[in-house]
Amino acid sequence: LTGDGNAPRPTAAVLVTGNEILLGLTQDRNSGFLARALDALGFDLDRVLTVGDAQEDIENGLRELLGHDLVITSGGLGPTHDDRTVGCVAAVAGVELESHEPTMRYLEERTARFARDRGLDPASFVRGNRKQALVPRGSTVIPPVGTAPGLAVDVQGTLAIVLPGPPRELSQMWDTATELPQFRQVLGRAESLERHVLRVYGTSESAIADAFEDAGGDGGGTVTTICAHRFEVEVLVRAPERRRDALDHLVEGMKERLGTAVYLEDERSIEELVLDLCRTRGLKVATAESCTAGLVSARLASIPGSSDVLLGGVVSYANEVKHGLLGVSTETLETYGAVSAECAAEMAAGVRRATGADLGVSVTGVAGPGGGTEDKPVGLVYVHVSAPGSEKGRRTVFPGDRNSVRDFAATTALHLLRRAVTDPA
Ligand code: ATP
Ligand code: MG
Repeated sequence: LTGDGNAPRPTAAVLVTGNEILLGLTQDRNSGFLARALDALGFDLDRVLTVGDAQEDIENGLRELLGHDLVITSGGLGPTHDDRTVGCVAAVAGVELESHEPTMRYLEERTARFARDRGLDPASFVRGNRKQALVPRGSTVIPPVGTAPGLAVDVQGTLAIVLPGPPRELSQMWDTATELPQFRQVLGRAESLERHVLRVYGTSESAIADAFEDAGGDGGGTVTTICAHRFEVEVLVRAPERRRDALDHLVEGMKERLGTAVYLEDERSIEELVLDLCRTRGLKVATAESCTAGLVSARLASIPGSSDVLLGGVVSYANEVKHGLLGVSTETLETYGAVSAECAAEMAAGVRRATGADLGVSVTGVAGPGGGTEDKPVGLVYVHVSAPGSEKGRRTVFPGDRNSVRDFAATTALHLLRRAVTDPA
């Protein structure tokens, strides 16, 4: 993703180190964090390389990435023999290691306190401290958040930012690194990208791809990413500032073609959107959930401040609870069954009655893997929203395993809730 010639963006690469990452024992979180941060600053990140802890692999990885304006390394700064990144950086840069005295004093003080608190022998930290205070000559030390100091160091004309592996330490020290003068100098050449996001629901990815092509595609200098996530599709359009008009043109063209399927144009999740929509209208929500057993409630409650909208809910898994707590009639359960539009409607009305909520949302379905029949297959879900003067129901069949079906059902319910608020007719 580069500019178009008159202002090439500075390039960046990330080197992730660690056998545990390479072996898949720990999920890499640092490259994703760094990718987002670099993109927001206007860098052109074009490589993420993962290597193990072997000295040779780290050095080769580093050499491979030289030529970028910026290389960020993650991990391998600890006190043990298998934390080798600093030595590798020095070797590739062709400079000696030397002890950094302020870091040495910081580590001595910190480990003395740690030893005292835990009843450990302070002498056992001496070697590790000496190792962690070693830095390549000429580097700038980024003060540690834990015990490992980070580095900003010139390696053959590439600015290397060396950060520890623990994600919390890495992200905090990254903020410090971005303030350093040598970082600012590389950043000075960056051109940040304008961005616009379209969130789309209820239409296929290929229909979105068609809308994109019909609206002119990326010919005008935009870069568009279409990404499906949890049954919603995110369309991210980006362009250098001087191509703002091309970006606006493409976005407008896509919106025209996609119509009401575009439900949001910012970073909020569907949960946040539903809560915001209800909050501004003073509406309260209650849930009645069978196969999702609380997922809809849990997703709403995951957002801070949800309590001014979400009243509560009933996990009505068994028919006795659907009947006993929600008042679903025995006739409905006998005639149509628990997985039916009729039952979903009575569950939603029942939870509204029981809680006094303005909106009752219900889910009932066959999550599988067992329990499917010819006319009620695995993946069949009914969702219903009951509101004053408005009833909305949906029948969907989602092919997938048990938890995908449940996840899909909860997403469907949240979107139906959104529609019930914005489009009550
Ligand atoms: P330490 O002083 O803790 O050894 P370090 O800089 O040497 O720090 P690592 O040894 O590579 O870092 O990793 C320490 C821990 O940080 C790992 O056990 C892992 O839990 C976490 N970690 C390292 N790299 C990553 C990563 N890329 N994504 C997520 N977690 C990571
Ligand atoms: Mg380590």
